Amino acid sequence: MPINVEKLRQDFPILNRKINGKALVYFDNAASSQKPKQVVEAMMNYYYNNHANVHRGAHTLSVEATQMYEEAREKVAGFLNAPSSESVIFTRNTTEAMNLFAYSWGKRYLKAGDEVIINHAEHHANVVPWHLIAQETGIKIRAIRLKDDYRLDLEHFESLLNDKTKIVSIAHMSNVLGTINPIKYFADKAHEYSALMIVDGAQAAPHLKVDVQALAADFYAISGHKMLAPTGVGAFWGKAELLRSMPPFLGGGEMIRKVTIETSTYADIPMCFEAGTPNIAEAIGLGAAVDYLNNVGMENVLEHDVKLTNYALSKLKTLKGISLYGPEGDDRGGIISFNIDGVHPHDVATALDSEGIAIRAGHHCAQPLMKALNVQSTARASFYFYNTEAEVDIFINVLEKTRDFFGDFL
Ligand code: PMP
Repeated sequence: MPINVEKLRQDFPILNRKINGKALVYFDNAASSQKPKQVVEAMMNYYYNNHANVHRGAHTLSVEATQMYEEAREKVAGFLNAPSSESVIFTRNTTEAMNLFAYSWGKRYLKAGDEVIINHAEHHANVVPWHLIAQETGIKIRAIRLKDDYRLDLEHFESLLNDKTKIVSIAHMSNVLGTINPIKYFADKAHEYSALMIVDGAQAAPHLKVDVQALAADFYAISGHKMLAPTGVGAFWGKAELLRSMPPFLGGGEMIRKVTIETSTYADIPMCFEAGTPNIAEAIGLGAAVDYLNNVGMENVLEHDVKLTNYALSKLKTLKGISLYGPEGDDRGGIISFNIDGVHPHDVATALDSEGIAIRAGHHCAQPLMKALNVQSTARASFYFYNTEAEVDIFINVLEKTRDFFGDFL
């Protein structure tokens, strides 16, 4: 169903900003989305009326704060179609979730010679934690190659699977190529080898309906700030029995059952993975973001993103001197990485900013992918449901002018 973009945009005051005298065109959503009033107000309302520390007070405010925090957990569980909310752990972001898993599960169960499969397009959040664990355990990291069409080479993946494979860890959506990866297929194959499937959902959760059960995933990580929620909160879902088999990642208050000077015993999930005072207001903000997205409808969000991406691609393809990176087809979300041939992407981003257009330039925390693409860096435009075709037209127009301007100096 088409969404009423103009109406939804009224919920995002920042979209009325002028940047360098021009109306803001915000195409940096893959880095972080903007926040609707409903999310900011939910946090303000909490701070003005209900704030106290959670889980430990007998007084009214603490009970209210706990209730609001736990309601947010229920909302996130519903958003991911998790079978229960006890298996949703609040983290700071996807990065923390991936580290939690790598340290907790990895240090307990991985040993020298075991293998973890990732792919060449992974964000560093799904690469570096494995390096850290490899240094401690001696595991081997294997990476699925990309095909010429920018999709993952599934034959190569199948050739990497073997009895030493313990973990398959793949992003649901690439933050550079926009590819939506076939997670159910990866999970089924991983399970044939009794390996676990962990999914980096940082880019997928904001843009498509996630159903962790239908995906057959064992673990799924998300970042709130990319899906309308504040910074400082994310979530990590895992199958309850697997989470219960994992040691805590951080120790301290809130996560214990009993502590003596000699030893501690730990609380049940999710508390055993939430040491210390959590980001209460941010979690409540994430709950409000989930409400907002549910009202828009995730199917509608994806439909809008794909349509806008295809519209932008159809225009970009007609421009000479532009290289595009990413697959063609509907298995691609609202992300377009590109370069103006011979021009540094930082110069492109700066030129666009002078006309009010916010895009990102760099390696996008995906240096192995940059190497595979044989580039140093790319420019990236990334869309959300509040972006319009009119904004794409402005972007294309300024991009063309930028190319012609720099072209004079080539
Ligand atoms: N994975 C992917 C695919 C991402 O795009 C990002 C953010 N760019 C991350 C992980 C890390 O997210 P965060 O910085 O919120 O932890």
